[in-house]
Amino acid sequence: MWLDPDDVAACVADPIPPGGGPAPTSPPVYQTSLFSFADFGSLVAGLESEHEQTVYSRGRNPTVRAVEDRLAYLERGDGALCFGSGMGAIAAVFYGTLKAGDHVLFVNQTYGPTLQLARYLERFDVRHDVCLDLDPEAVRRAIRPETKLVWMESPGSMTFRVLDVPAVCEIAAKRGVTTCLDNSWATPLLQKPLELGVDIAVHTATKYLGGHSDLVAGAVVTSAGRIERLFYDTYLLSGATCAPWTAWLLLRGMRTLPARLAQHERDGLLVAEFLAAHPRIAAVHHPALNGDPSLVERQLRGFSGTFGFSLDTDEFSRVAGFIDRLERFRIGVSWGGVESLVLSPARPGSPSPLVRLSIGLEGADLLIADLDRALSAS
Ligand SMILES: *Cc1c(COP(=O)(O)O)cnc(C)c1O
Repeated sequence: MWLDPDDVAACVADPIPPGGGPAPTSPPVYQTSLFSFADFGSLVAGLESEHEQTVYSRGRNPTVRAVEDRLAYLERGDGALCFGSGMGAIAAVFYGTLKAGDHVLFVNQTYGPTLQLARYLERFDVRHDVCLDLDPEAVRRAIRPETKLVWMESPGSMTFRVLDVPAVCEIAAKRGVTTCLDNSWATPLLQKPLELGVDIAVHTATKYLGGHSDLVAGAVVTSAGRIERLFYDTYLLSGATCAPWTAWLLLRGMRTLPARLAQHERDGLLVAEFLAAHPRIAAVHHPALNGDPSLVERQLRGFSGTFGFSLDTDEFSRVAGFIDRLERFRIGVSWGGVESLVLSPARPGSPSPLVRLSIGLEGADLLIADLDRALSAS
């Protein structure tokens, strides 16, 4: 893992305010719905630049702004908008980029609800396709004249395959197509999509950024012009605003993001290597083990601790039995918190050998022993 020292410092501490007076190490929570003005003219001026000014907390709020500024810095964007959830951020990009007749191309395995929202948008005559062939030539062929948005995940959901992001961005840029990458897995510390040529980065902050499974939030990071348009077109009107308390918790969670990621990576790799050597495991889906090493090196500064593997069976009862025998992994959706989690897309009648682990901070030895026991008991 190679972290930019300035990124680490930006996560850990707020900038020291000028003036030299005593400064809090933690910012105040502006728990207010509105901001009042000394005179009516100032309110009118505030409303004219509401994307910058604090007028009403469905728009800008200083506590939310503090986390937005931090994310914008870490992602090397001009600005950021924080949302009430990752899906709020994703929906805002869809609504702000697409209109009837447009087409979206999803490249790589995509987060399920993102695709569900795309299916919902069919009723507004927005079409989409999914391209699971990661060869940039396949992406080029899949772009249509009406494609307005190329949506990427890298590493992708569930199978964690790494995409050649700059190659896809180059193809999209030649066609004038906007690109967006869901960077939730890597966080801005481990992958900087805007530097790879992506127009818009989106995040769920619910996972690694918050890091403690105690908040739901999301973010968009992009250029100043796109932030301004998204603010007026969708942020202010869709109402999927991040609450000040949530923003404060998120800032607090992000202070330990560099330290947490270091352990998630180390222990995740130890568990992945253990599984790769186990006779009951058919495949391990971790970008360190299944990714093209030159792509991984160019795009990722390290690995987080969420990855998948395939058991040697897809029989539902056996996959469920294995999961139920685990004692150190909680069974639940989501990932990226301090506690280890296990999940599978397997359902009765829809078999799958896939299992996803989110490696927490309990320690690799304990987790490996638990997996070993659960595997040998089946
Ligand atoms: C969880 C998740 C989201 C959605 O975030 P929420 O905060 O749950 O709305 C989006 N993308 C990915 C990759 C996710 O894992």
